[in-house]
Amino acid sequence: MNVHEELLVAGEWRKPAAEARIDVVSPSTEEVIGRVPDAGAEDVDAAVRAARSAFDHGPWRAMDVTERAAVLERALQLLGSRIDEISTLVTSEMGLPTSIAGVQIPGALDTGRYFLQVAQGDPVSEVRQTQLCAAAVVKEPVGVVASIAPWNGPFNLAIAKIFPALVTGCSVVYKPAPETPLDAFVVAEALTQAGLPAGVFNLITGGRETGAALVAHPGIDKVSFTGSTAAGRDIGRECGASFKRVQLELGGKSAAIVLDDADVATTMAGLGVGCFFNTGQVCAAYSRVLLPASRYDELAAALVATAESFVVGDPFDPATTMGPLVSARQRDKVFSYLAAGKDEGATVATGGGAPDGLDKGFYVAPTVFTNADNSMRIAREEIFGPVASVLRYDTIEQAIEIANDSDYGLHGAVFTTDPERAAAVARGVRTGTFSVNAFIYNTEAPFGGVKNSGIGRDTGREAVQAYYELKTINLDAPTAALFG
Ligand code: NAD
Repeated sequence: MNVHEELLVAGEWRKPAAEARIDVVSPSTEEVIGRVPDAGAEDVDAAVRAARSAFDHGPWRAMDVTERAAVLERALQLLGSRIDEISTLVTSEMGLPTSIAGVQIPGALDTGRYFLQVAQGDPVSEVRQTQLCAAAVVKEPVGVVASIAPWNGPFNLAIAKIFPALVTGCSVVYKPAPETPLDAFVVAEALTQAGLPAGVFNLITGGRETGAALVAHPGIDKVSFTGSTAAGRDIGRECGASFKRVQLELGGKSAAIVLDDADVATTMAGLGVGCFFNTGQVCAAYSRVLLPASRYDELAAALVATAESFVVGDPFDPATTMGPLVSARQRDKVFSYLAAGKDEGATVATGGGAPDGLDKGFYVAPTVFTNADNSMRIAREEIFGPVASVLRYDTIEQAIEIANDSDYGLHGAVFTTDPERAAAVARGVRTGTFSVNAFIYNTEAPFGGVKNSGIGRDTGREAVQAYYELKTINLDAPTAALFG
């Protein structure tokens, strides 16, 4: 049992003022495996004040970027020495199969290193000769960042949200999701042991109310949020009213468009990952699959076989390729979409309920709905489970139109052996990210969405830029010499 009675505030592990606690439940055994504080307004206030004081009066933001990167590199090394422990925590708290955690957790550390390299290679000051004077355009850290994460990739999202903010000189108050808070304590320990000055990183745990109190706090300069579109809308409204900078990575309903010349093996490899990876709890998932009428039956049958090839079960079994959903609530939500799909007239080609032989755990069988159309709820709303809705189209123009007929715009794909057509479809679909003949989450390129999928970009060089404000300093001749 992982019991945490304290939060990291101002460089110390402190008992929270709030007495409430959150039970962390294993999605595979349904047993309570951990307990963390459910931080209240007083705890949020203490954490933000600590981050504010560290930013306004501490040494971190004034340090050279290479000095900051050295501290953060030490933290990554410490995390690297605890990889097995982190993998076990993530598998326990969210049900991520060990076969995937073994790749994803070390990969997250590489992403952290990538951000450190980007920041060190990026000039933070540039002098421009303007008609009036020389002007220095200087990048300064945006300030105190509230960073709020969902449960579907706890450790990798923690690294991807925290490291770009810290390396630029910001202070952070980090709140993981209440379902998956355990690995964040290891991150906090590593940052502290690495020598991060007190208050630069603060960890609070809690649910929606804790997050809302954090976002509303006047000491916050920027909110970096990954989560649902509904919560993102509330956060965007709050940040708009108080002029906080805001970065929102929200939901998706991405379409994979399979063209009539697609190679079956390549397509199924991409759709297998795109539709079912992480039990479909992926914002960028290909939850709509658009098949050409001329090959509909053949490709739909191949997708059914792909879905049925997943080994669903105990995430600690190395043979398992699909674990449970994170919580009973999420499982019930997915079940409600399975019912909606059936009611609206789609055909359950495989799955459609709980898998056989698993009497404990929040499992859902990988499901393919055929004969879906784009007006159905299973084609319009984010399900966040292992469910693919298969739609039929006649022309490429029609396929692009269907793909774009969505409130979301996060990701998408085309599968074809014709590069010209791949490029045309990639340009025609209005999303923030797109993949050709694959499902790729590329942390070295910008990732994010348009429309209801959010604002801003979370990865790539752009993730680092997002934690800077630009300041222009109009110079007189003697001062200009100092800015070279
Ligand atoms: P959620 O929005 O319910 O919660 C996400 C986080 O925000 C949690 O830490 C939660 O406690 C907190 N929170 C909830 N409401 C809040 C509010 N009003 N103010 C402040 N904080 C609040 O989402 P979830 O169910 O944990 O995660 C699933 C969602 O996340 C899906 O919609 C998925 O698409 C999205 N997601 C998006 C991306 C992306 O990069 N676009 C990545 C992963 C997940």
